[in-house]
Amino acid sequence: MSIYDMELKKVIRKINSLNVKNVGLQFPEGLKMQAVAIAREIEKNTEANVIISADPCFGACDVSDRKMNGIVDFIVHYGHTPLPLRYSIPTMFIEAKANVNIKQYLEDALEMLEDYSKVAIATTAQHLHLLDEIVDFLEDHGKEVVIGSSRSTRKGQVLGCNFSSIKNLGADVYLFIGSGNFHPLGIYMFTNSPVLAIDPYSGDIREMSGYADRILRIRFARIVKAREVKKWGIIVSSKEGQYRMALAKELKKLLEDEGMEAFILLMDHINPDVLLPYMELEGFVVTACPRIAIDDSQMYKKPVITPKELEIVLNKREWEKYQLDEILFEDRYYQ
Ligand code: SF4
Repeated sequence: MSIYDMELKKVIRKINSLNVKNVGLQFPEGLKMQAVAIAREIEKNTEANVIISADPCFGACDVSDRKMNGIVDFIVHYGHTPLPLRYSIPTMFIEAKANVNIKQYLEDALEMLEDYSKVAIATTAQHLHLLDEIVDFLEDHGKEVVIGSSRSTRKGQVLGCNFSSIKNLGADVYLFIGSGNFHPLGIYMFTNSPVLAIDPYSGDIREMSGYADRILRIRFARIVKAREVKKWGIIVSSKEGQYRMALAKELKKLLEDEGMEAFILLMDHINPDVLLPYMELEGFVVTACPRIAIDDSQMYKKPVITPKELEIVLNKREWEKYQLDEILFEDRYYQ
Protein backbone atom coordinates (compact mmCIF):
# COMPACT_ATOMS: atom_id res chain seq x y z
CA MET A 1 0.00 0.00 0.00
CA SER A 2 1.23 3.51 -0.85
CA ILE A 3 2.19 5.89 1.92
CA TYR A 4 0.67 8.71 -0.12
CA ASP A 5 -2.97 9.72 0.17
CA MET A 6 -4.18 9.85 -3.43
CA GLU A 7 -7.69 10.97 -2.30
CA LEU A 8 -9.35 8.72 -4.84
CA LYS A 9 -12.86 9.01 -3.40
CA LYS A 10 -12.68 12.80 -3.57
CA VAL A 11 -11.39 12.63 -7.16
CA ILE A 12 -14.17 10.24 -8.23
CA ARG A 13 -16.81 12.41 -6.53
CA LYS A 14 -15.54 15.47 -8.36
CA ILE A 15 -15.45 13.75 -11.77
CA ASN A 16 -19.00 12.47 -11.28
CA SER A 17 -20.30 15.82 -10.05
CA LEU A 18 -18.91 17.57 -13.13
CA ASN A 19 -20.06 14.79 -15.43
CA VAL A 20 -16.59 14.72 -16.99
CA LYS A 21 -16.30 12.70 -20.21
CA ASN A 22 -12.52 12.71 -20.61
CA VAL A 23 -10.18 13.19 -17.70
CA GLY A 24 -6.40 13.67 -17.84
CA LEU A 25 -4.24 12.29 -15.04
CA GLN A 26 -0.79 13.66 -14.37
CA PHE A 27 1.76 12.42 -11.84
CA PRO A 28 5.30 13.36 -10.86
CA GLU A 29 7.88 10.67 -11.54
CA GLY A 30 7.73 9.18 -8.04
CA LEU A 31 3.97 8.59 -8.21
CA LYS A 32 3.64 7.36 -11.81
CA MET A 33 3.61 3.70 -10.74
CA GLN A 34 0.17 4.35 -9.24
CA ALA A 35 -1.25 5.79 -12.48
CA VAL A 36 -2.74 2.58 -13.89
CA ALA A 37 -4.44 1.55 -10.65
CA ILE A 38 -5.95 5.02 -10.26
CA ALA A 39 -7.09 5.14 -13.91
CA ARG A 40 -8.74 1.74 -13.47
CA GLU A 41 -10.69 2.88 -10.39
CA ILE A 42 -11.80 6.10 -12.06
CA GLU A 43 -13.02 4.27 -15.18
CA LYS A 44 -14.82 1.73 -12.99
CA ASN A 45 -16.59 4.36 -10.88
CA THR A 46 -17.31 7.15 -13.38
CA GLU A 47 -18.40 7.57 -17.00
CA ALA A 48 -15.08 9.21 -17.89
CA ASN A 49 -12.33 7.98 -20.18
CA VAL A 50 -8.94 8.42 -18.58
CA ILE A 51 -5.90 9.67 -20.46
CA ILE A 52 -2.65 9.43 -18.52
CA SER A 53 -0.04 12.07 -19.27
CA ALA A 54 3.08 9.93 -19.59
CA ASP A 55 5.63 12.71 -20.17
CA PRO A 56 8.04 13.58 -17.37
CA CYS A 57 6.55 16.01 -14.85
CA PHE A 58 8.38 17.72 -12.00
CA GLY A 59 6.07 20.50 -10.83
CA ALA A 60 2.85 22.49 -11.17
CA CYS A 61 4.88 24.63 -13.58
CA ASP A 62 4.24 21.81 -16.05
CA VAL A 63 0.54 20.93 -15.90
CA SER A 64 -0.35 19.24 -19.19
CA ASP A 65 -3.33 21.54 -19.79
CA ARG A 66 -2.01 22.91 -23.07
CA LYS A 67 -0.96 19.48 -24.39
CA MET A 68 -4.30 17.98 -23.41
CA ASN A 69 -6.41 20.88 -24.62
CA GLY A 70 -9.20 19.55 -26.81
CA ILE A 71 -8.50 16.00 -25.57
CA VAL A 72 -9.72 16.15 -21.97
CA ASP A 73 -12.13 18.46 -20.16
CA PHE A 74 -10.68 18.03 -16.67
CA ILE A 75 -7.22 17.28 -15.26
CA VAL A 76 -6.24 15.71 -11.97
CA HIS A 77 -2.67 16.72 -11.18
CA TYR A 78 -0.96 14.83 -8.37
CA GLY A 79 1.92 15.76 -6.10
CA HIS A 80 1.97 19.55 -6.34
CA THR A 81 0.00 22.61 -5.26
CA PRO A 82 -1.26 25.12 -7.85
CA LEU A 83 0.91 28.03 -8.96
CA PRO A 84 -0.44 31.45 -9.89
CA LEU A 85 -0.63 30.47 -13.58
CA ARG A 86 -3.51 30.49 -16.03
CA TYR A 87 -4.33 26.79 -16.45
CA SER A 88 -6.44 26.43 -19.58
CA ILE A 89 -8.36 23.32 -18.40
CA PRO A 90 -10.05 23.02 -14.98
CA THR A 91 -7.46 21.24 -12.84
CA MET A 92 -7.77 19.54 -9.50
CA PHE A 93 -4.53 19.45 -7.50
CA ILE A 94 -4.02 16.55 -5.11
CA GLU A 95 -0.99 17.05 -2.86
CA ALA A 96 -0.46 13.32 -2.25
CA LYS A 97 0.05 13.77 1.47
CA ALA A 98 2.71 11.45 2.83
CA ASN A 99 1.60 9.35 5.74
CA VAL A 100 4.73 9.50 7.90
CA ASN A 101 5.38 9.56 11.61
CA ILE A 102 7.24 12.82 11.98
CA LYS A 103 7.16 12.94 15.77
CA GLN A 104 9.84 10.31 16.26
CA TYR A 105 12.23 12.25 14.00
CA LEU A 106 11.46 15.54 15.73
CA GLU A 107 12.48 13.88 19.01
CA ASP A 108 15.77 12.94 17.35
CA ALA A 109 16.27 16.49 16.05
CA LEU A 110 15.75 18.15 19.44
CA GLU A 111 19.38 17.80 20.47
CA MET A 112 20.56 19.50 17.28
CA LEU A 113 18.07 22.32 17.91
CA GLU A 114 19.25 22.82 21.49
CA ASP A 115 21.22 26.02 20.87
CA TYR A 116 18.42 27.77 18.97
CA SER A 117 15.28 29.37 20.34
CA LYS A 118 13.54 30.73 17.20
CA VAL A 119 12.85 28.02 14.62
CA ALA A 120 11.42 28.58 11.12
CA ILE A 121 9.78 25.62 9.40
CA ALA A 122 9.58 24.90 5.69
CA THR A 123 8.43 21.90 3.73
CA THR A 124 7.07 20.62 0.42
CA ALA A 125 3.53 19.74 -0.76
CA GLN A 126 3.56 16.18 0.62
CA HIS A 127 4.17 17.31 4.20
CA LEU A 128 2.20 20.54 4.56
CA HIS A 129 -0.44 18.69 6.57
CA LEU A 130 2.22 17.95 9.23
CA LEU A 131 2.89 21.61 10.00
CA ASP A 132 0.44 21.94 12.90
CA GLU A 133 1.85 18.85 14.58
CA ILE A 134 5.42 20.12 14.12
CA VAL A 135 4.56 23.56 15.51
CA ASP A 136 2.84 22.01 18.57
CA PHE A 137 5.78 19.71 19.20
CA LEU A 138 8.39 22.48 19.01
CA GLU A 139 6.35 24.91 21.09
CA ASP A 140 5.84 22.21 23.72
CA HIS A 141 9.63 22.00 23.84
CA GLY A 142 10.06 25.71 24.43
CA LYS A 143 10.78 26.93 20.91
CA GLU A 144 9.39 30.02 19.23
CA VAL A 145 8.17 28.87 15.81
CA VAL A 146 7.73 30.99 12.69
CA ILE A 147 6.25 29.97 9.35
CA GLY A 148 6.33 32.22 6.31
CA SER A 149 4.05 32.48 3.34
CA SER A 150 4.20 33.70 -0.24
CA ARG A 151 1.90 34.28 -3.18
CA SER A 152 3.28 31.30 -5.12
CA THR A 153 3.09 28.73 -2.36
CA ARG A 154 1.06 27.56 0.57
CA LYS A 155 2.03 28.67 4.06
CA GLY A 156 5.34 27.07 5.00
CA GLN A 157 5.96 25.68 1.53
CA VAL A 158 9.11 26.11 -0.55
CA LEU A 159 9.61 25.08 -4.17
CA GLY A 160 12.93 24.23 -5.80
CA CYS A 161 12.60 27.50 -7.70
CA ASN A 162 10.92 29.71 -5.14
CA PHE A 163 12.01 30.41 -1.59
CA SER A 164 9.88 33.52 -1.00
CA SER A 165 8.19 32.01 2.05
CA ILE A 166 11.37 31.68 4.12
CA LYS A 167 12.98 35.05 3.42
CA ASN A 168 13.04 37.68 6.16
CA LEU A 169 11.79 35.38 8.92
CA GLY A 170 14.76 36.19 11.17
CA ALA A 171 14.91 32.71 12.69
CA ASP A 172 17.97 31.27 14.48
CA VAL A 173 17.62 28.01 12.57
CA TYR A 174 15.53 26.72 9.65
CA LEU A 175 14.01 23.26 9.89
CA PHE A 176 13.16 21.66 6.57
CA ILE A 177 10.95 18.57 6.37
CA GLY A 178 11.30 16.64 3.12
CA SER A 179 13.58 14.48 1.04
CA GLY A 180 16.49 15.56 -1.16
CA ASN A 181 19.06 18.29 -0.73
CA PHE A 182 17.93 20.95 -3.15
CA HIS A 183 15.23 22.64 -1.04
CA PRO A 184 17.29 22.86 2.16
CA LEU A 185 20.26 24.03 0.05
CA GLY A 186 18.10 26.89 -1.24
CA ILE A 187 16.97 27.76 2.27
CA TYR A 188 20.60 27.85 3.41
CA MET A 189 21.65 30.05 0.49
CA PHE A 190 18.78 32.51 0.88
CA THR A 191 18.94 32.86 4.67
CA ASN A 192 22.67 32.43 5.43
CA SER A 193 21.52 30.67 8.58
CA PRO A 194 21.86 27.13 9.96
CA VAL A 195 19.51 24.68 8.25
CA LEU A 196 18.52 21.24 9.54
CA ALA A 197 16.79 18.92 7.09
CA ILE A 198 14.73 15.97 8.31
CA ASP A 199 14.02 13.29 5.73
CA PRO A 200 10.62 12.00 6.89
CA TYR A 201 11.06 8.74 4.95
CA SER A 202 14.47 7.64 6.19
CA GLY A 203 14.65 9.61 9.44
CA ASP A 204 17.99 11.02 8.32
CA ILE A 205 18.74 14.46 9.82
CA ARG A 206 21.30 16.60 8.00
CA GLU A 207 22.93 19.91 8.72
CA MET A 208 23.28 21.65 5.35
CA SER A 209 26.42 23.80 5.51
CA GLY A 210 28.81 21.02 4.39
CA TYR A 211 26.63 20.10 1.43
CA ALA A 212 26.24 23.77 0.47
CA ASP A 213 30.04 24.23 0.50
CA ARG A 214 30.42 21.24 -1.81
CA ILE A 215 27.83 22.57 -4.25
CA LEU A 216 29.38 26.03 -4.21
CA ARG A 217 32.79 24.55 -5.07
CA ILE A 218 31.23 22.77 -8.07
CA ARG A 219 29.44 25.94 -9.15
CA PHE A 220 32.66 27.93 -8.88
CA ALA A 221 34.40 25.42 -11.16
CA ARG A 222 31.55 25.68 -13.72
CA ILE A 223 31.71 29.47 -13.66
CA VAL A 224 35.47 29.45 -14.20
CA LYS A 225 35.00 27.12 -17.20
CA ALA A 226 32.14 29.27 -18.53
CA ARG A 227 34.46 32.27 -18.72
CA GLU A 228 36.07 30.60 -21.77
CA VAL A 229 32.74 30.33 -23.62
CA LYS A 230 32.21 32.68 -26.57
CA LYS A 231 29.24 30.98 -28.29
CA TRP A 232 26.25 30.50 -26.00
CA GLY A 233 22.95 28.68 -26.13
CA ILE A 234 20.23 30.26 -24.01
CA ILE A 235 17.69 27.60 -23.13
CA VAL A 236 14.02 28.52 -22.76
CA SER A 237 11.50 25.90 -21.66
CA SER A 238 8.15 25.76 -23.42
CA LYS A 239 6.60 24.51 -20.16
CA GLU A 240 4.04 27.09 -19.05
CA GLY A 241 5.53 27.85 -15.64
CA GLN A 242 9.17 27.73 -16.72
CA TYR A 243 8.82 29.89 -19.82
CA ARG A 244 11.01 32.98 -19.42
CA MET A 245 11.53 34.29 -22.95
CA ALA A 246 11.85 37.91 -21.83
CA LEU A 247 14.74 36.97 -19.56
CA ALA A 248 16.35 34.94 -22.38
CA LYS A 249 16.19 37.94 -24.71
CA GLU A 250 17.79 40.14 -22.04
CA LEU A 251 20.61 37.61 -21.61
CA LYS A 252 21.12 37.36 -25.37
CA LYS A 253 21.53 41.13 -25.59
CA LEU A 254 23.87 41.14 -22.60
CA LEU A 255 26.11 38.54 -24.24
CA GLU A 256 26.03 40.22 -27.63
CA ASP A 257 26.94 43.55 -26.02
CA GLU A 258 30.01 41.75 -24.67
CA GLY A 259 30.95 40.72 -28.23
CA MET A 260 29.80 37.11 -27.92
CA GLU A 261 27.32 35.06 -29.90
CA ALA A 262 24.12 33.80 -28.25
CA PHE A 263 21.24 31.77 -29.66
CA ILE A 264 17.93 31.05 -27.98
CA LEU A 265 16.89 27.39 -27.91
CA LEU A 266 13.25 26.65 -27.12
CA MET A 267 12.55 23.12 -25.88
CA ASP A 268 10.19 21.16 -23.69
CA HIS A 269 12.20 18.57 -21.80
CA ILE A 270 15.81 19.61 -21.25
CA ASN A 271 18.45 16.88 -21.11
CA PRO A 272 22.01 16.31 -22.40
CA ASP A 273 20.86 14.42 -25.53
CA VAL A 274 18.78 17.29 -26.93
CA LEU A 275 21.80 19.60 -26.67
CA LEU A 276 24.15 17.26 -28.57
CA PRO A 277 23.39 18.57 -32.10
CA TYR A 278 24.44 22.11 -31.14
CA MET A 279 28.11 21.22 -31.26
CA GLU A 280 29.17 24.75 -32.15
CA LEU A 281 27.77 26.14 -28.92
CA GLU A 282 30.30 26.00 -26.09
CA GLY A 283 28.08 26.61 -23.08
CA PHE A 284 24.45 27.06 -22.06
CA VAL A 285 22.42 29.33 -19.78
CA VAL A 286 19.21 27.73 -18.54
CA THR A 287 16.28 30.08 -17.98
CA ALA A 288 14.01 27.08 -17.24
CA CYS A 289 13.79 25.19 -13.93
CA PRO A 290 16.74 26.37 -11.80
CA ARG A 291 17.36 22.81 -10.61
CA ILE A 292 18.54 21.70 -14.07
CA ALA A 293 21.87 23.50 -13.90
CA ILE A 294 22.54 22.59 -10.27
CA ASP A 295 21.07 19.10 -9.71
CA ASP A 296 21.92 17.67 -13.14
CA SER A 297 25.25 19.43 -13.43
CA GLN A 298 27.34 16.23 -13.68
CA MET A 299 25.33 15.04 -16.69
CA TYR A 300 26.53 17.86 -18.96
CA LYS A 301 30.01 18.02 -20.50
CA LYS A 302 29.80 21.71 -21.38
CA PRO A 303 29.14 24.43 -18.79
CA VAL A 304 25.42 24.73 -18.06
CA ILE A 305 24.76 27.68 -15.77
CA THR A 306 21.91 29.76 -14.37
CA PRO A 307 21.19 33.40 -15.34
CA LYS A 308 22.52 34.56 -11.98
CA GLU A 309 25.75 32.61 -12.57
CA LEU A 310 26.08 34.26 -15.99
CA GLU A 311 26.13 37.60 -14.20
CA ILE A 312 29.22 36.37 -12.30
CA VAL A 313 30.81 35.11 -15.52
CA LEU A 314 30.33 38.58 -17.04
CA ASN A 315 31.64 40.33 -13.89
CA LYS A 316 28.24 41.92 -13.25
CA ARG A 317 27.86 40.16 -9.88
CA GLU A 318 30.52 39.31 -7.32
CA TRP A 319 31.09 35.67 -6.46
CA GLU A 320 30.52 36.57 -2.79
CA LYS A 321 26.94 37.51 -3.75
CA TYR A 322 26.22 34.13 -5.33
CA GLN A 323 22.50 33.29 -5.38
CA LEU A 324 20.38 30.45 -6.64
CA ASP A 325 18.07 31.32 -9.50
CA GLU A 326 14.36 31.73 -8.66
CA ILE A 327 11.19 31.91 -10.71
CA LEU A 328 8.86 34.51 -9.23
CA PHE A 329 5.67 33.24 -10.82
CA GLU A 330 3.54 36.16 -9.70
CA ASP A 331 5.86 38.70 -11.36
CA ARG A 332 6.33 36.89 -14.65
CA TYR A 333 5.54 38.52 -17.90
CA TYR A 334 5.30 37.11 -21.39
CA GLN A 335 6.95 38.41 -24.55
S1 SF4 B 1 10.41 25.20 -12.11
FE1 SF4 B 1 11.42 23.39 -11.25
S2 SF4 B 1 11.46 23.74 -9.06
FE2 SF4 B 1 9.96 25.17 -9.92
S3 SF4 B 1 7.98 24.14 -9.74
FE3 SF4 B 1 8.84 23.65 -11.75
S4 SF4 B 1 9.94 21.71 -11.50
FE4 SF4 B 1 9.60 22.59 -9.45
